[in-house]
Amino acid sequence: MQTPFGEMPVIDAHAHFFSYRFFATLAAELPEPPSEVELYPTLRKRIPWEFPEADPVDLGKQWVAEMNRHGISRMVLIASVPRDEESVAAAAQAYPDRIIAYFLLNPISDDAPARITRAFAELGVRGVCLFPAMHRFHLWDQRLLPIYETAAAHGGIVFVHCGYLKVGIREKLGLPSRFEMRFANPVDLHGVAKAFPNLPFVIPHFGCGYFRELLLLADQCSNIYTDTSSSNDWVHLMPYPLDLKTLFAKSLQVLGPERILFGTDSSFFPRGWRKDIFDAQVEVLEALQVPAPQVTQMFSGNIARLLAR
Ligand SMILES: [Zn+2]
Repeated sequence: MQTPFGEMPVIDAHAHFFSYRFFATLAAELPEPPSEVELYPTLRKRIPWEFPEADPVDLGKQWVAEMNRHGISRMVLIASVPRDEESVAAAAQAYPDRIIAYFLLNPISDDAPARITRAFAELGVRGVCLFPAMHRFHLWDQRLLPIYETAAAHGGIVFVHCGYLKVGIREKLGLPSRFEMRFANPVDLHGVAKAFPNLPFVIPHFGCGYFRELLLLADQCSNIYTDTSSSNDWVHLMPYPLDLKTLFAKSLQVLGPERILFGTDSSFFPRGWRKDIFDAQVEVLEALQVPAPQVTQMFSGNIARLLAR
């Protein structure tokens, strides 16, 4: 991709795969769950989005076309409800050079160890996504040991959404949130990160409200990464002024350019890939006069290195 820093590959390390099964799973939580034929008509009344075909390879094809349109090399696409890893895996198998599959797992569900083993060993999934506030577990919980062990054994990546959590589509559908922030502190990862020093943990959105904790943790553990994705609107909740420029500057100082992964948090169509997020980050990196080799690390080199392990 042509950027103000020159021509460089861009890999988006954080985007969502909103499959047919994703929407069907959420709709099943509605007070009056729609039948299969009523699924999209029901959702369309509340959300003005495009909804994907039942075959996840079609959605994969749509994302590949979107990448081509913007000059993006590859994307991490996250299956974003539990038990949907097969959807994104099918898309990644159809486009192995373009789509990197991650999946959301409730690690304290009975089938979690079997699911993660199958995902990594058979489906070609590369990352497991944990949402402690959503599924209400602590990251240090002993029940998660097999999850970390399996991810480590397969050279996987553990993506951990800490901090402030709102899921926009749940709100649009009026679905209740059972999220509990007491599980969301990145500091919960300290012992785990030390116990699995070769397993990379990615805490998205600069810690999403727990920026200080992210920095403290990352200073202690070299396997802690962050991603730059989303609008990072959470900065407005801080008791002191904080903006994207400060987030980048301080992260570059503490984590270094080799532990910062570029991401957008793109998710649905017709909005597609969030060029606005990319442009805002490029602008900040220009203002900070970050050297091009460091920008390349953040925009593609780091995630490529983690995937090549
Ligand atoms: Zn996200």
